[in-house]
Order: sequence, then structure tokens, then C-alpha cells
Amino acid sequence: MNPVFPPESEAFRTRIKQFLTDSLPDGWAGLGGIPSDDVLAFLEGWRTILFEHRLLAPQWPAEYGGGGLTALETVIVHQEFAKAGAPTGGPNDLFNIGMLGNTLLYWGTPEQKSHYLPRLLSNEHVWCQGYSEPNAGSDLAGLGLRAVLDGDEWVLNGQKIWTTYGHLANHIFVVARTDTNARPHAGMTFLLVPMDQPGIEVRPIEMLSGDSEFNEVFFTDVRCPRDAVLGEVGNGWSVAMTLLGFERGEAGAVLPVRFREELDRLLVLAADRGRSDDPLIRQRLAWCYSKVEIMRYLGLRTLTSFLAGHEPGPDAAITKLYWSEYHQVVTELAVDILGAEAMVPHGRWPSSSLSTDDPGSPPDSASWVGTFFTARAGTIYAGTSQIQRNIIGERILGLPKEPRPS
Ligand SMILES: Cc1cc2nc3c(=O)[nH]c(=O)nc-3n(C[C@H](O)[C@H](O)[C@H](O)COP(=O)(O)OP(=O)(O)OC[C@H]3O[C@@H](n4cnc5c(N)ncnc54)[C@H](O)[C@@H]3O)c2cc1C
Repeated sequence: MNPVFPPESEAFRTRIKQFLTDSLPDGWAGLGGIPSDDVLAFLEGWRTILFEHRLLAPQWPAEYGGGGLTALETVIVHQEFAKAGAPTGGPNDLFNIGMLGNTLLYWGTPEQKSHYLPRLLSNEHVWCQGYSEPNAGSDLAGLGLRAVLDGDEWVLNGQKIWTTYGHLANHIFVVARTDTNARPHAGMTFLLVPMDQPGIEVRPIEMLSGDSEFNEVFFTDVRCPRDAVLGEVGNGWSVAMTLLGFERGEAGAVLPVRFREELDRLLVLAADRGRSDDPLIRQRLAWCYSKVEIMRYLGLRTLTSFLAGHEPGPDAAITKLYWSEYHQVVTELAVDILGAEAMVPHGRWPSSSLSTDDPGSPPDSASWVGTFFTARAGTIYAGTSQIQRNIIGERILGLPKEPRPS
């Protein structure tokens, strides 16, 4: 099944294709064609081009710096960028635009939208996500970061953990406990906190790979204005869930294209390493092909729902569960195809630790071994697989709720 777009949107598609041809470097073969050490510099320049052409947030209203495009035009932008292997933003835009910006559009007051949205688009504000704590991960309602009003300011004390890019950000959005007497879900508030102040301490967590992408963030008498509340005081749970819906669901339209491109690269790897005729490898490749096709249909369902104007809801859990579990299997297959070579990986390493390697990456062992490790985290961040299954069971299928602590 292939969806057919109306003729006027095909004209728009031609314009986007032309923009990509004009703006991407000559000989562009996807981000994977750029050496990993040069990717960051490329992304910074590319983000500026997208910002200037109002393509960073295509569907946002023009008054906030968005492109003012329709939902259908936005889908076309995402499709054409994905087909060209071109990024739709900079390294932090998953947090700046995908999560916080979209949530601000939904919950923000007019003043908050006018203040924050242009600044996070221009990258004056670089945001990170402060949800998880040592005793609150899957059970986010167990969080203990305290926020207490002191005149016109909130004063925050406590700790967050696993804060991705916390060492690069200058702002953090947190869910904090503002009422210790209310039920856990009711006593939480979503706050927008500047990090450039005394009392914030960011401690990097070193990963097995030696890199440090995420951090512990400690708060000692940290302050933010009284009106830096998104949603209302005590309504942080609802705001936090809206944001998680964006975190899990937005990729539904683009990921099938990326996973198909990744599978095509795996076929090249199998042929390259002389494993294409091995019947067991062929069987596993065919399994992957069928999974990616199903993902394409899931993606079309996400598109249908997006075009109908539905906000991301619990069905985002289906996409998240599906791609993250598939990705562990396909990368295990890649490592099996490499065999002993996987123990001494060489070549270009993935530039990001999220999702697939960059489109157009060479068939190097480092690409696949790096992605194999990345895929382990996919079933943990943005909610573990067990939590996605609970959401699907309870909120989509209507099954009885599992027992919860009182
Ligand atoms: C790469 C990466 C980046 C991250 N970035 C961020 C970030 O930027 N900001 C942020 O706030 N957090 C971030 N996280 C944290 C992430 O959100 C949490 O790790 C995740 O929510 C799981 O919480 P936990 O680690 O405390 O595990 P736990 O909640 O302690 O879970 C441990 C195990 O118990 C299972 N489990 C728990 N509850 C249930 C249940 N009710 N039913 C069945 N099984 C259950 C889980 O599935 C898991 O297998 C990141 C994590 C990773 C891996």
C-alpha cells in the first residue's frame, strides 16, 4: 500500500526536494558520508540553514519562528528529509523542539510561548530533560525533587539522574514535588529552570564506551520564577505525559524510512562479507524485512492520526515498543554476520547514540558494533518495554490495571 498525495502537495514536495538539492553539500550521500569527527560542525551549520528557512519547526505558527505549514506539508518535509538522509535539526532538537517546544505549544500561556519558543529555536536556550531520579524511573510519580515557593520564586532541592546532554544544556525542564500532602500524581509541578546559577551541579556519568552523554544533576536552593510553571501547579503529571507522548510518538513517520535504509545497508554488509548465501542468515534477513514492512504500516497509521489532528496518546507506545525491540534483533544479526571481526571493530563509529547509524554510513564493523550497543538502551529510555506493554494493556486494550503501591 502506498498513500497518494493530492497534486498541490506534490508541487510542494518538488520545492522541498529542490531545497535539499540546493542546500546539501555536493555529492551528498547521507550524514553517514561525513567523517564522525566532522558531524557536529556540519550539524551546526545545517541547523542554521534550517532555522533561516523556517524549516526547524515546520508546523509551528510563524509568529513563534515556525514555518506555518499544514500537517500534510509537514509530513512531506519529514519524508523528503528522511529519504535524502538529511537531518531535520541539530543534536539537541529532540529535547528543544520535539519534546519541550511541542509541549509548550500545547500547554504554554501566550506569554510563555512568545518567550520560550523563539529562544529554543535560535538555540539561545539549550534544554535537557529532568524527569528520572535515583528512586523514580518507571515510577515517575515516586520523584522527590522538592520545589517550595519563596515569594515570587520557586526554590528547588534534590537530584535528577540520567540527564542526557545535561552538561551541554543551559536550561532544564523538571517535574518537581510541590505538595507532599497530595496523592503522588497530584502533588507534582512541571517547572522551567535556568541552569546557569549557583546551586546547580552537573556530574557526568561515564559509560562503558568511555563517553559521557548523560549526567547526574544536583539542585541546592536553585531558583526559578513563580510563573515558570508549565500547565498549572499540581498538574505536572499531565504535562509530563503529554511530553512523553511526543518523545515516543513523533518518530513514527520517519523511523520506517531510517530502518529500511539500515536494512539495505545490512544487505550490503552480508554480501560484502560473503554471507548472503547462508540459508540461516537469509532467513533472519527475511524476518527483518517483514518487520520493517510492518513498521511502515505502523508509520502510515501514525501519519493518518497526525493528519487528523490527534495529539500523541498511548498508541505512541506501540511504535516505541516495536522499533526498539526490532532494533536489538537486527543489530545482533549484524554482529553475527561480522563474526570475529565484531571483536575488533574498525572504521566509522556512529555519530549519535540514538536509533540507527547515520544514513549512508559505510559498511564498517564499527558502524554496526556501535549501533548494536546503542540498541541496548533503546528499550530503556523514553520508558522501558515493560512500561510500554503496561500502557498498551491498560490504556489501549482496556485490560485490568496491575497492582500498584498504595
Ligand atoms: C540512554 C538513556 C538516556 C536517558 N536520558 C534521560 C534523560 O535525558 N532524562 C531523564 O529524565 N531520564 C533519562 N533516562 C532515564 C530513563 O527514562 C529511565 O532509565 C527509565 O525510565 C527506566 O527507569 P530506571 O532506569 O529507574 O529503571 P526502573 O524503573 O528501576 O526499572 C527497572 C526494571 O524494572 C522494570 N519495571 C519497573 N516498573 C515496572 C512495572 N510496573 N511493571 C513491569 N516492569 C517494571 C523495568 O521495565 C526495568 O526492566 C535515560 C535512559 C537511558 C538508557
